[in-house]
Amino acid sequence: MSELSDLDIERREPNGVLGADVVDEESVLEVKDLAVDFFGPHGTVRVVEDLSFDIKPGETFGIVGESGSGKTVSSLAIMGLISSNVAQISSGSVRLNGRELLGLSARQLRKVRGREIGMIFQEPKRSLDPSFTVGHQIAETVRVHLGLSRREAWQHAVKMLDLVRIPDAARRAKQYPFEFSGGMAQRVMLAIALSCSPKVLIADEPTTALDVSVQNNVLSLIQELQDELGIGVLFISHDLGVVAEMCDRVAVMYAGQIVERGTVEDIFFGPRHPYTAALLSAIPGGHLSGGRLTAIPGIVPPAHAWPTGCRFNTRCPHAVDTCRTEAPPLVSGTGENVARCHLTSTLSLKGVSE
Ligand code: SF4
Repeated sequence: MSELSDLDIERREPNGVLGADVVDEESVLEVKDLAVDFFGPHGTVRVVEDLSFDIKPGETFGIVGESGSGKTVSSLAIMGLISSNVAQISSGSVRLNGRELLGLSARQLRKVRGREIGMIFQEPKRSLDPSFTVGHQIAETVRVHLGLSRREAWQHAVKMLDLVRIPDAARRAKQYPFEFSGGMAQRVMLAIALSCSPKVLIADEPTTALDVSVQNNVLSLIQELQDELGIGVLFISHDLGVVAEMCDRVAVMYAGQIVERGTVEDIFFGPRHPYTAALLSAIPGGHLSGGRLTAIPGIVPPAHAWPTGCRFNTRCPHAVDTCRTEAPPLVSGTGENVARCHLTSTLSLKGVSE
């Protein structure tokens, strides 16, 4: 039995709970054909396009790519955190347990966030309010979303700190964020994110800002809690090595599109897109079969300057004329693997050696 089972407190439905659940037993989160447009000095620019993936209960799905690939915009869009002043979701679908989230009001989305979807971000201390104790911040979350009394909420907060392995939780609950190290602050964020028993945890670069020595502790804790709680995890990272450790399936993003999607084994041992292969060759200690550590030349171009044809053609060592004129579709490979490359069936790309 999970530790959270011991914490289960009957949910008292706050006013305006979203409509009846339509349970899709296959996927806890399903994103389909999502497109996001930004408004800027270059006009309306599409920054995420044709984004589709799903997460099963208890599964960790990774999105990986360089800065500018669109992975964080994608996670913000899924969470309903895209400001209408600067951007819009132009098409697509985001379904949580079968319930469509796009089109919900800001108030309805606030109820979903925190209660149905938990989130942790890169810099935990910036997400915590320095003027309140960590116990207060967890307790307020469950008071708002679960309607608990102050006393019940405080007890729940202490139990959540205990769940995320913070020693002496009752005492630590009375402390302020400045009294926590970066790793401990991320544990507090994890406690907040999981405090309402969400179905999905979105972890956006959760260890990037932490010291290397504590990164593994936080990653191990996420895995342990996922096993205990059976939630789906969307894990977003620029680090393919970390994604390999954490995820069951992976989507590789480049210039606002998924360029390859498949199981971790597919992606790591038999990449079918040159960008995936280039990311693998850039992993220190990645043990590419017969290969050397190499940097990917150039940078991801800005969204208003994506090249015609394949968006990777300016950096791809295999590009041919067709790549500069025709956009490649996602092409199926073995199993669930898909890759967006004209030459995917003819290239022999190096993966990681076992
Ligand atoms: Fe490279 Fe062409 Fe494939 Fe794009 S379509 S990844 S440019 S080979």
